[in-house]
Formats: sequence, structure tokens, C-alpha cells
Amino acid sequence: MSASVFFSPDRQQTLGIIGGGQLGRMLALTARRMGIRSLVWTGGLEAPAMEVADEAIDLPFDDEQALLRFCEKANVATVEFENIPLSTLRSVADRVELHPSPAAIGICQNREREKKFLKANGIPCAPFWVIETLEDLKHAMGELNSAGVLKTADFGYDGKGQLKITGLENPADVWENFGKKRAVLEAWVPFDKEISVMVVRGKNGEITSYDPAENQHRSHILDVSIVPAKVEPTVLAEARHIAEQVAIALDYRGIMGVEFFVNSDGSLIVNEMAPRPHNSGHHTLDACGTSQFEQQLRAAFGLPLGSTTLLSPCVMLNLLGDFWKSETEPPDWTPLLAIPDATLHLYGKRRAIGMRKMGHVTLLGSDALEKVKLLKRTWL
Ligand code: AMP
Repeated sequence: MSASVFFSPDRQQTLGIIGGGQLGRMLALTARRMGIRSLVWTGGLEAPAMEVADEAIDLPFDDEQALLRFCEKANVATVEFENIPLSTLRSVADRVELHPSPAAIGICQNREREKKFLKANGIPCAPFWVIETLEDLKHAMGELNSAGVLKTADFGYDGKGQLKITGLENPADVWENFGKKRAVLEAWVPFDKEISVMVVRGKNGEITSYDPAENQHRSHILDVSIVPAKVEPTVLAEARHIAEQVAIALDYRGIMGVEFFVNSDGSLIVNEMAPRPHNSGHHTLDACGTSQFEQQLRAAFGLPLGSTTLLSPCVMLNLLGDFWKSETEPPDWTPLLAIPDATLHLYGKRRAIGMRKMGHVTLLGSDALEKVKLLKRTWL
């Protein structure tokens, strides 16, 4: 496709986005800026992307009419959420270009396939056992002989569908508590830090990655990303190298987040991959040459990739629902907006329930972390 189509209003291209969450919203906003139309298929869930997209299909992912409408209108499609039924992804890809491919998404959306893929490609990951039955669990707990974490094979994210074990429990009780679901048992990794790399691979295998982010969580939800991560330069370089190897091995096209554990000796273990823009890449909107969302558009439409240069050290703070005064009343933004080089992003969600991701803020500068600490002490 010639790049000139993007500058011609009468031949405007439409990006179809499967999923309607905040990642879809930021993709749609970026598309609008670049003269590309957006169509979001929400799956029938509450969808922050709907109010900014040019068009929306507010129907479930197994609806045949929705599939046909989506594929008829989208020139190119992508996902903003990996937990879409594989059958839907394949049906889309039969009709319209979908990037990343269903094969790549299929590996990343299932922990069993993901772990097997990593192991088969010689990429470091935690020791794991696939669990289908109580017998499997007994055997695995016997071999593990220490702490671990049981994770559902399918559709887990943000710590959902996980059970930490000490290794001393009765396997039958663990199996019962876990709901007897197909799972992966992972050895517990006594990591020092968690970091992630956003990597993007284009149409002809062109590949680039961003400076790694150091991620801190609250109740399994990302709280703060510090960029660049405060680890040795050799670890930063190795993380980028591994992330690029993962993208190449997946024959990936688009943006992807690769999450790592960093051990105290600086060695790296891949925790998981997110085949889409990722929360730890939100700072790229304000602090990098090209944002992760624009890279997704560029890769999907076969345009040249943009610069991943970090223009300033920065910190991204997630604004979670528990910062809200009530379900419908946000905090007073004045102290935040008074900080130079702080950029507020809100996702337009109507109700702040629990730890829901309501927005984020990016703070630039070498003192950004100090500013975030101060904000947390005095404001939130
Ligand atoms: P996940 O949904 O797999 O990213 O897991 C959520 C969080 O649980 C991670 O960010 C880690 O903090 C923690 N976690 C997951 N797996 C392990 C593990 N094998 N060892 C130690 N911590 C883990």
C-alpha cells in the first residue's frame, strides 16, 4: 500500500480494532491524528474506545453479522486485547489483513502455549508443568518441592486466575480451591525487579524496541513504570535483545510487550508477552519519538516504523479507581496539573470501581520518580 493513501481524504483507510478498552481508545485517537478512520468492535462490553472511534460495533465477538460488518469496513485489522476467541481472529484474518497474526496472538493468549513456545525457542522462562488432572498436580508439586504459582492456561491477566502456593499444601485441596481448571504450575521466581520491553516489528521484518520500563505493582495491577529501568546497561541491552528474539520467533507484525523478571545476578526470565500495546508503554505517548500506538498503526498498514528514542527519563503513574473520591467523583486534578511536564490521560470510564484503570499520568525529567512519590504522599 502506498503511503500517499493516508493523505487523501477520499481514499481514507479504516483501521479495525478488535476490543474497545483504553488501548483501543488511544489507538483510535492516534489514528484520527494520522488521518486514518477507526472502527472498534467492542465485544458488547463497556468500551472507552467507542466515544472516540469513528464507528463502533457494539456486539459480542461470536456474532456473525458483527464479523461481516467489521471485515467489510476495515482495510486492516488489529487487536487491543488478546483474549478474543481464536475462532473469531481466524475468521477475521480470512477476510481482512490482521496484524499481529492469529497464530501469534493464539500463543500469547494461552499460558500453556506461551510457555511451550518460549521453551522450544530457548528463551529463558520459569520452570513449569502443564496441569490437567489432580495426578498432574501431585506429580508437579512433588518435583517443584518449593513455592510456585498455579495459573489458568486460558485468558489470565493482571494476576487473575492465579493461586500462589507454598508447596507444602495438600495437592487435592489446591486442586479443589483452584476450580480444577487446566493450568500451568510455575516455579516461584525470587526476582529483584520486574521490567518490560515494547518491541515492534514491521512488514518486512524491520524491528526495533524501546528502552525497558521498570514496573511496580499494587495488588497485581501496574502502579508505576520507571523509564529507563534502573538496572545495569548490560541487562537493559539483553532485555531488548530477548524481546526482539521473541518477536522474530513469533514472526510477529505489530507492537508487543514482553515482561521480564530480573534476578539479583542480573539474569532475565520472560514472564509473559502481550500481543498489543501495553500499559508499561504508555509513556511513549509523551516521552518518545513515536508512541507505541503509532507504531501499531505503522506496522499494521506496512508503513516505515518510527523512532523509539526516549526523549526524557520519565515515570508513568496509573490512576486507578481507588484514587477516586467516590465511584463518580474524581480526585482534584489541580496539584497534578500544576506540575510542569506532567501529562494527564483519562479514559472516559463512567465509574471508578475498585482498582479499575481510569487513566494515567506521565511525568518527565530525572526527578519524575521523586515527584510521583510526593504526589502519592500528599495528594492521592
Ligand atoms: P502475570 O499475570 O503472570 O503477569 O502475574 C502477575 C504478577 O504475579 C507478576 O507481575 C509477578 O509480580 C507475580 N508473578 C507471576 N508469576 C510469578 C512467578 N513465577 N514468580 C514470582 N512472581 C510471579
